[in-house]
Amino acid sequence: MNTQSDDQPLTIALTKGRILQDTLPLLARCGLNPVEDPEKSRRLIFESKRPGIRFVLLRGADVVTYVRQGAADAGVVGKDMLLEYGAAGLYEPLDLGLAKCSLQTAGFAAGRKDGTRLRVASKFVNVARSFYAAKGVQADIIKLYGAMELAPMLGLVDEIVDIVDTGNTLRANGLVPFEHIADISTRFVVNKAAMRTRHALLTDIIGSLGAVSESS
Ligand code: AMP
Repeated sequence: MNTQSDDQPLTIALTKGRILQDTLPLLARCGLNPVEDPEKSRRLIFESKRPGIRFVLLRGADVVTYVRQGAADAGVVGKDMLLEYGAAGLYEPLDLGLAKCSLQTAGFAAGRKDGTRLRVASKFVNVARSFYAAKGVQADIIKLYGAMELAPMLGLVDEIVDIVDTGNTLRANGLVPFEHIADISTRFVVNKAAMRTRHALLTDIIGSLGAVSESS
Protein backbone atom coordinates (compact mmCIF):
# COMPACT_ATOMS: atom_id res chain seq x y z
CA MET A 1 0.00 0.00 0.00
CA ASN A 2 1.34 3.36 -1.05
CA THR A 3 0.08 5.77 1.59
CA GLN A 4 1.58 9.24 1.39
CA SER A 5 3.69 10.58 4.25
CA ASP A 6 2.98 13.80 6.13
CA ASP A 7 5.36 16.02 4.16
CA GLN A 8 3.55 15.11 0.94
CA PRO A 9 0.44 17.03 -0.05
CA LEU A 10 -2.82 15.31 0.82
CA THR A 11 -4.13 13.95 -2.47
CA ILE A 12 -7.86 13.98 -3.18
CA ALA A 13 -9.09 12.19 -6.33
CA LEU A 14 -12.08 13.85 -8.01
CA THR A 15 -14.41 12.16 -10.50
CA LYS A 16 -14.44 13.93 -13.87
CA GLY A 17 -17.63 15.04 -15.63
CA ARG A 18 -21.03 15.57 -14.04
CA ILE A 19 -19.77 14.88 -10.50
CA LEU A 20 -16.88 17.37 -10.91
CA GLN A 21 -19.30 20.12 -11.97
CA ASP A 22 -21.25 19.64 -8.75
CA THR A 23 -18.18 19.11 -6.53
CA LEU A 24 -16.30 22.30 -7.48
CA PRO A 25 -18.85 24.71 -5.92
CA LEU A 26 -18.83 22.61 -2.73
CA LEU A 27 -15.01 22.75 -2.55
CA ALA A 28 -15.12 26.51 -3.19
CA ARG A 29 -17.47 27.02 -0.25
CA CYS A 30 -14.89 25.31 2.00
CA GLY A 31 -12.00 27.36 0.53
CA LEU A 32 -10.56 24.13 -0.86
CA ASN A 33 -11.12 24.73 -4.56
CA PRO A 34 -8.35 24.19 -7.11
CA VAL A 35 -6.23 27.27 -7.94
CA GLU A 36 -7.09 26.78 -11.62
CA ASP A 37 -10.44 25.74 -13.15
CA PRO A 38 -10.06 22.01 -13.95
CA GLU A 39 -12.89 22.22 -16.47
CA LYS A 40 -10.87 24.68 -18.55
CA SER A 41 -7.54 22.89 -18.36
CA ARG A 42 -5.99 19.70 -19.71
CA ARG A 43 -3.93 19.21 -16.55
CA LEU A 44 -4.69 16.20 -14.37
CA ILE A 45 -3.20 17.49 -11.08
CA PHE A 46 -4.29 20.76 -9.41
CA GLU A 47 -3.10 22.49 -6.27
CA SER A 48 -5.84 23.49 -3.84
CA LYS A 49 -6.17 27.08 -2.67
CA ARG A 50 -5.54 25.56 0.75
CA PRO A 51 -1.82 24.72 0.96
CA GLY A 52 -0.87 21.07 1.45
CA ILE A 53 -3.78 19.69 -0.57
CA ARG A 54 -3.87 18.71 -4.22
CA PHE A 55 -6.49 17.18 -6.50
CA VAL A 56 -6.20 14.61 -9.25
CA LEU A 57 -8.91 14.14 -11.90
CA LEU A 58 -9.93 10.60 -12.78
CA ARG A 59 -12.80 8.48 -14.01
CA GLY A 60 -14.98 7.17 -11.19
CA ALA A 61 -13.74 3.58 -11.38
CA ASP A 62 -10.15 4.83 -11.15
CA VAL A 63 -10.95 7.04 -8.14
CA VAL A 64 -11.93 3.85 -6.28
CA THR A 65 -8.64 2.15 -7.26
CA TYR A 66 -6.40 5.12 -6.41
CA VAL A 67 -7.98 5.60 -2.98
CA ARG A 68 -8.07 1.89 -2.20
CA GLN A 69 -4.36 1.54 -3.04
CA GLY A 70 -3.43 4.69 -1.11
CA ALA A 71 -2.09 6.53 -4.17
CA ALA A 72 -4.77 9.10 -3.31
CA ASP A 73 -5.67 9.68 0.34
CA ALA A 74 -9.33 10.51 -0.32
CA GLY A 75 -11.76 10.81 -3.19
CA VAL A 76 -15.11 12.05 -4.42
CA VAL A 77 -16.98 9.31 -6.28
CA GLY A 78 -20.45 8.01 -7.07
CA LYS A 79 -21.96 5.27 -4.91
CA ASP A 80 -22.52 3.32 -8.16
CA MET A 81 -18.73 3.00 -8.55
CA LEU A 82 -18.35 1.85 -4.93
CA LEU A 83 -21.07 -0.77 -5.39
CA GLU A 84 -19.55 -2.00 -8.65
CA TYR A 85 -15.84 -1.93 -7.82
CA GLY A 86 -15.99 -2.61 -4.06
CA ALA A 87 -15.49 -0.33 -1.08
CA ALA A 88 -13.12 -2.59 0.90
CA GLY A 89 -10.13 -0.57 2.15
CA LEU A 90 -12.17 2.64 2.13
CA TYR A 91 -14.11 4.61 4.66
CA GLU A 92 -17.20 6.36 3.37
CA PRO A 93 -17.68 9.12 5.94
CA LEU A 94 -19.82 11.53 3.93
CA ASP A 95 -22.75 11.48 1.56
CA LEU A 96 -22.29 14.74 -0.37
CA GLY A 97 -25.83 14.42 -1.74
CA LEU A 98 -24.69 15.32 -5.29
CA ALA A 99 -25.59 13.74 -8.66
CA LYS A 100 -28.48 11.82 -7.13
CA CYS A 101 -29.95 9.04 -9.25
CA SER A 102 -30.72 5.35 -8.90
CA LEU A 103 -29.67 2.03 -10.32
CA GLN A 104 -32.62 0.20 -11.82
CA THR A 105 -33.50 -2.72 -14.01
CA ALA A 106 -35.48 -1.75 -17.12
CA GLY A 107 -36.95 -3.33 -20.21
CA PHE A 108 -40.03 -3.42 -22.42
CA ALA A 109 -43.40 -2.75 -20.78
CA ALA A 110 -44.57 -6.28 -21.69
CA GLY A 111 -42.33 -7.40 -18.84
CA ARG A 112 -40.24 -10.41 -18.10
CA LYS A 113 -40.95 -13.93 -19.35
CA ASP A 114 -41.04 -16.26 -16.34
CA GLY A 115 -38.83 -19.32 -16.23
CA THR A 116 -36.48 -18.33 -19.04
CA ARG A 117 -32.83 -17.43 -18.57
CA LEU A 118 -32.53 -13.65 -18.80
CA ARG A 119 -30.00 -11.79 -20.88
CA VAL A 120 -29.04 -8.51 -19.21
CA ALA A 121 -26.76 -5.71 -20.40
CA SER A 122 -25.02 -3.33 -18.01
CA LYS A 123 -21.97 -1.26 -17.29
CA PHE A 124 -22.45 -2.50 -13.71
CA VAL A 125 -21.91 -6.22 -14.18
CA ASN A 126 -21.04 -6.98 -10.56
CA VAL A 127 -24.09 -5.11 -9.25
CA ALA A 128 -26.28 -6.86 -11.83
CA ARG A 129 -24.87 -10.32 -11.08
CA SER A 130 -25.47 -9.94 -7.32
CA PHE A 131 -28.94 -8.45 -7.81
CA TYR A 132 -30.28 -11.29 -9.99
CA ALA A 133 -28.50 -13.96 -7.92
CA ALA A 134 -30.12 -12.62 -4.72
CA LYS A 135 -33.54 -12.90 -6.40
CA GLY A 136 -32.76 -16.43 -7.59
CA VAL A 137 -33.17 -15.32 -11.24
CA GLN A 138 -30.82 -16.98 -13.72
CA ALA A 139 -29.23 -14.24 -15.80
CA ASP A 140 -26.40 -13.95 -18.31
CA ILE A 141 -24.82 -10.55 -17.80
CA ILE A 142 -23.24 -8.81 -20.78
CA LYS A 143 -20.87 -5.89 -20.22
CA LEU A 144 -21.56 -2.82 -22.36
CA TYR A 145 -19.88 0.58 -22.12
CA GLY A 146 -22.69 2.94 -23.16
CA ALA A 147 -26.04 3.47 -24.93
CA MET A 148 -27.49 0.67 -22.79
CA GLU A 149 -31.05 1.35 -24.05
CA LEU A 150 -30.06 0.17 -27.52
CA ALA A 151 -29.34 -3.38 -26.35
CA PRO A 152 -32.98 -4.49 -25.78
CA MET A 153 -34.14 -2.53 -28.83
CA LEU A 154 -31.79 -4.50 -31.09
CA GLY A 155 -32.52 -7.81 -29.36
CA LEU A 156 -29.08 -8.20 -27.78
CA VAL A 157 -30.65 -8.60 -24.31
CA ASP A 158 -34.02 -8.82 -22.55
CA GLU A 159 -33.32 -6.04 -20.08
CA ILE A 160 -30.71 -3.65 -18.72
CA VAL A 161 -29.33 -2.47 -15.40
CA ASP A 162 -28.60 1.23 -15.67
CA ILE A 163 -28.48 4.62 -13.98
CA VAL A 164 -31.85 6.38 -14.04
CA ASP A 165 -32.40 10.01 -13.09
CA THR A 166 -35.57 11.48 -14.62
CA GLY A 167 -36.37 8.31 -16.59
CA ASN A 168 -36.48 10.37 -19.82
CA THR A 169 -33.78 8.33 -21.55
CA LEU A 170 -35.65 5.07 -20.84
CA ARG A 171 -38.99 6.52 -22.01
CA ALA A 172 -37.45 8.04 -25.16
CA ASN A 173 -36.30 4.55 -26.11
CA GLY A 174 -39.55 2.73 -25.33
CA LEU A 175 -38.34 1.18 -22.05
CA VAL A 176 -39.80 1.25 -18.55
CA PRO A 177 -38.14 0.82 -15.16
CA PHE A 178 -38.79 -2.54 -13.46
CA GLU A 179 -36.96 -2.73 -10.14
CA HIS A 180 -35.07 -0.25 -8.01
CA ILE A 181 -31.65 -1.66 -7.06
CA ALA A 182 -30.01 1.21 -5.12
CA ASP A 183 -30.14 4.93 -4.51
CA ILE A 184 -26.98 6.61 -5.78
CA SER A 185 -25.29 9.85 -4.73
CA THR A 186 -21.77 11.18 -4.54
CA ARG A 187 -19.65 10.09 -1.58
CA PHE A 188 -16.46 11.38 0.03
CA VAL A 189 -14.25 8.34 0.59
CA VAL A 190 -11.00 7.98 2.53
CA ASN A 191 -8.23 5.39 2.42
CA LYS A 192 -8.29 3.52 5.75
CA ALA A 193 -4.54 3.87 6.39
CA ALA A 194 -4.60 7.57 5.46
CA MET A 195 -7.41 8.10 7.97
CA ARG A 196 -4.92 7.07 10.67
CA THR A 197 -1.78 8.80 9.36
CA ARG A 198 -3.45 12.08 8.23
CA HIS A 199 -6.25 12.07 10.73
CA ALA A 200 -6.31 15.77 11.74
CA LEU A 201 -6.39 17.15 8.21
CA LEU A 202 -8.89 14.58 6.92
CA THR A 203 -11.21 15.11 9.88
CA ASP A 204 -11.07 18.85 9.27
CA ILE A 205 -11.92 18.41 5.55
CA ILE A 206 -14.74 15.96 6.33
CA GLY A 207 -16.16 18.45 8.86
CA SER A 208 -16.05 21.36 6.38
CA LEU A 209 -17.48 19.39 3.47
CA GLY A 210 -20.16 17.91 5.72
CA ALA A 211 -21.20 21.35 6.93
CA VAL A 212 -21.49 22.87 3.44
CA SER A 213 -23.19 19.84 1.89
CA GLU A 214 -25.82 19.78 4.66
CA SER A 215 -26.57 23.47 4.16
CA SER A 216 -26.95 23.21 0.35
P1 AMP B 1 -32.39 10.27 -17.24
O1 AMP B 1 -32.80 10.31 -18.68
O2 AMP B 1 -32.57 11.60 -16.54
O3 AMP B 1 -33.04 9.13 -16.48
O4 AMP B 1 -30.81 10.03 -17.21
C1 AMP B 1 -30.34 8.78 -17.60
C2 AMP B 1 -28.96 8.81 -18.16
O5 AMP B 1 -28.20 9.94 -17.72
C3 AMP B 1 -28.26 7.56 -17.67
O6 AMP B 1 -28.24 6.63 -18.70
C4 AMP B 1 -26.90 8.02 -17.27
O7 AMP B 1 -25.98 7.76 -18.30
C5 AMP B 1 -26.99 9.50 -17.09
N1 AMP B 1 -27.06 9.94 -15.70
C6 AMP B 1 -28.10 10.55 -15.09
N2 AMP B 1 -27.81 10.86 -13.82
C7 AMP B 1 -26.54 10.43 -13.61
C8 AMP B 1 -25.67 10.46 -12.49
N3 AMP B 1 -26.02 11.01 -11.33
N4 AMP B 1 -24.44 9.90 -12.62
C9 AMP B 1 -24.09 9.35 -13.79
N5 AMP B 1 -24.86 9.30 -14.89
C10 AMP B 1 -26.07 9.83 -14.80
